[in-house]
Amino acid sequence: MTYDRLVCANCAAPVNEGRCPVCRANRERLQQENFFASLNPMALIALLAALIAAVALLAHQTA
Ligand SMILES: [Zn+2]
Repeated sequence: MTYDRLVCANCAAPVNEGRCPVCRANRERLQQENFFASLNPMALIALLAALIAAVALLAHQTA
C-alpha cells in the first residue's frame, strides 16, 4: 500500500508521521486495512490446506 504518501488534510504533513489526531486515526485505519489485506490470503491458504488434509484423510479412510 502507498498510505505513506498520503498527506493529511488537517495538518498537511504525511499521514504516516502521525503529527495530529487526524493523521493517527487515518494511519490506524489504513494499517488495519493492510493487516486484513495481508491476513486474508494467508487465512485462505490455511483453510485450503486444512480442507486438502481433511479430504486426504477421508479418502485414506474409505479406500
Ligand atoms: Zn494530520
